[in-house]
Amino acid sequence: MGTTGCSARTSLDRVMAKLESVGINFLALDFDQTILDTHTGGRWTGSSDELIPHVRPVFSNLIQAATSGRIQVAVVTFTGQVKLVKAVLESIVGQQGAERIPIRGNDRSWQYVGDGSMDGKQPHMASACEELLTNNPGIKITKNTTLLIDDDPKNIRHALADGTRAIWFNPHHPNKLYSDIVNQLE
Ligand SMILES: [Mg+2]
Repeated sequence: MGTTGCSARTSLDRVMAKLESVGINFLALDFDQTILDTHTGGRWTGSSDELIPHVRPVFSNLIQAATSGRIQVAVVTFTGQVKLVKAVLESIVGQQGAERIPIRGNDRSWQYVGDGSMDGKQPHMASACEELLTNNPGIKITKNTTLLIDDDPKNIRHALADGTRAIWFNPHHPNKLYSDIVNQLE
């Protein structure tokens, strides 16, 4: 137990050091099958309490570390059940912490009207970025300081084609995430 906790901690420290060394200040995270170990399909009929056990520890730890440091976080998702997303985030970082995490889902609560890419999660990230810049006037977020993590290879391809950093999350090997971040980012 002690050893496992210790090595997991070390690995997360390496991830945070890597993100900082390559200048990432914005993590855009997919929800279904990425933060969660299940796919709600936007049709979750259970309570949010029933969804919380499906949060992957690699993501709850990453989100806590990012938000307690200088890295902004957003959830970019195709689900329309953003209230569930919010409840899950509150379970990870508390109510105040969750207030600072923009959620961009398919719920028509937002619209991206910029001239950037409309493919995959690109408009979601661009819109979330606008909110973060409004709430944090001092920071500067670019595609090169953004990292999308998503289990859908299509969204990764769209991000990379648009010049946004992105790492494919393998839902079958969640514990590879930290080493993938450390090894793939440059
Ligand atoms: Mg997904």
